[in-house]
Amino acid sequence: MRPHLKKQVIFIIGVSGSGKSTIGNLLAKELDLPFFDGDDYHPESNREKMASGKPLNDEDRKGWLMALNTVAKEELKKNSCIIACSALKKKYRQQLSEGIENEFRFVFLHGSFDQILQRMESRSGHFMPLSLLQSQFDTLEPPENAIRVDVINTPEQILEQIKSELNKSEFGLIGLGVMGKSLCRNLAGKGFYISMYNRHVDGKEEDIALTFKKDFPELHTAKAFDKMQAFVHSLQTPRKIMLMVNAGKAVDQVIEEILPFMSTGDIVIDGGNSYYLDTQRRYEYLKEKGISFMGVGVSGGEEGALQGPSLMPGGDPDAYDKIKGYLETISARDPDGNACCSYLGKGGAGHFIKMAHNGVEYSEMQLIAEVYQLLRQGKNMQPDKIADLFEEWCQGELNSYLLEITAKILRRKEGNNWLIDLILDKAANKGTGNWTTVAASQLGIPATVLTSALYSRYISAFKSSREKASALYSPEKLSLELPIVHIKNAYRFARIINHHQGISLLKEASESYAWELDMSEICRIWTNGCIIRSAFIETLVPLLKKEKDILLNAHIAGMLKESYAAITQTVSEAVLGHYPIPCLTAALNYFNSYKEDRSNANMIQAQRDFFGAHGYRKNDDPEGDLHHTNWS
Ligand code: NDP
Repeated sequence: MRPHLKKQVIFIIGVSGSGKSTIGNLLAKELDLPFFDGDDYHPESNREKMASGKPLNDEDRKGWLMALNTVAKEELKKNSCIIACSALKKKYRQQLSEGIENEFRFVFLHGSFDQILQRMESRSGHFMPLSLLQSQFDTLEPPENAIRVDVINTPEQILEQIKSELNKSEFGLIGLGVMGKSLCRNLAGKGFYISMYNRHVDGKEEDIALTFKKDFPELHTAKAFDKMQAFVHSLQTPRKIMLMVNAGKAVDQVIEEILPFMSTGDIVIDGGNSYYLDTQRRYEYLKEKGISFMGVGVSGGEEGALQGPSLMPGGDPDAYDKIKGYLETISARDPDGNACCSYLGKGGAGHFIKMAHNGVEYSEMQLIAEVYQLLRQGKNMQPDKIADLFEEWCQGELNSYLLEITAKILRRKEGNNWLIDLILDKAANKGTGNWTTVAASQLGIPATVLTSALYSRYISAFKSSREKASALYSPEKLSLELPIVHIKNAYRFARIINHHQGISLLKEASESYAWELDMSEICRIWTNGCIIRSAFIETLVPLLKKEKDILLNAHIAGMLKESYAAITQTVSEAVLGHYPIPCLTAALNYFNSYKEDRSNANMIQAQRDFFGAHGYRKNDDPEGDLHHTNWS
């Protein structure tokens, strides 16, 4: 049966004598596609060189490969085609497929030296002398990402194998929940042939994948499964399987379920919000089994996953090369049009970065919530007026996705009521803020703003205690005298501190785990598609190319100095007016501590020495020996 093919160029590759032209021609007839024999595109100089028994060098091949690449691109404008070309080295294959990254497949005709020699000896009229065969085998770098067929088989068998492989999906996704569905639609909408799986639970979860496929026209080429073995076998090798299941046990369960059907070289991508140490463990576990594991942070929620998320991949760099075509195509674009996705680091790096992203997100949300409360209660502004104000702020350097959506939230009414007033004041969390706080503590990074944001959510959960305390203490909030522009600048100030703390956490993790993270690149990936995208993140991209500590940068220092009086006054008045503002306060306190050249830690040193004889160092010899005083 003729497979339903994605538009692509099928390169038939292998050493001379492996049967590229024969198989290419036969396949072209079967699939009703044009065939191009690479040998016909050699310039005369190359032919003469080969005929004289001299192997071609990279320079000789360059123009030839470029000519074939042009043929591939031109044909793709019309339809699929088949091109036979030795393409023995990885570099040659890259040249051949340049600019058509997601639209080609290699079919590698594999045979031993003796098998090929035998085939060549039985042929006549080929310009390649037998003496060059050894040099071809010496040059050959067997491709990993190709349909591999054995030339020992008959042409009919080879054709059947190629057709069956071409019929398989190029990418698989497990877990058709909120995020999984959006990512499937995004992938299929970009022209990828995918397989989709959701577990079957009798009476509860039945035919989820099939029903989903029927609902969306862009999924017409997608294959739907609820049997794991059939799903895994529907994928081209090396298989690329993305998990979008709940973080924790579910990820381990799914890995154990797919493992029996996987082969060496396959790639598993965990796109959930997994804990980075779990990712590290899974990476090591699967490596032992010859399977690459990538932990990819995905941000942008349901809509982002559909339209273009920000993706933070970590794991094996070679595995990334094999999946980047998919991830970089479906991701958001930065202001220069580049993919908001690139390889970031080994092991659990991707999930650590996603975790830190969520930490920054917690603080950004809480800062807006604090500012909202000050404006609503302290300045007696109605939600629509605050929405106007936030929209105005969004016209300038405070622009952010979170501020934009907050303005929209504030305009929403239900009947005569503002919807925001009908929403319960208890915030849930899924644990990433907690992990970030723990990681920051373990790495010795004072991420005080995000810790305060997390604790604010925790306090919000004690609703009934808060109600009792409110009745007992009857706190009366005072109006705020301070101008709104001070609140704006306090918010601006606190956001800078929040981002500084997030970046410091990433820097420390990078050192500790030897991930060699590029802070500017991480911020570039965060410029679009993700929840913390903002004008400020865009400012950080060039700045972090030259600056390690953003607080020591002249431009940032200027912003902080300009806003310092505003945050001091905002925090002071808000505290006097009985407003809880943990994140604004944390940002100010952090800054006040950070800029102290003589902190109060001399007292801590002395106390530790007093009760525990821990010793202390002195100002005149800060790296020197410990001193001890007999304090009693
Ligand atoms: P959902 O709860 O909507 O979907 C979870 C999916 O996982 C469902 O398809 C579910 O199947 C499947 N699943 C759960 N347990 C198992 C199991 N043991 N075996 C097989 N399948 C299982 O979650 P989301 O799509 O929202 O999130 C998925 C991941 O992405 C999570 O890690 C989440 O933290 C992360 N994430 C979510 C974002 C969001 O905005 N929602 C944003 C970024 C990341 P079934 O339907 O049968 O229960």
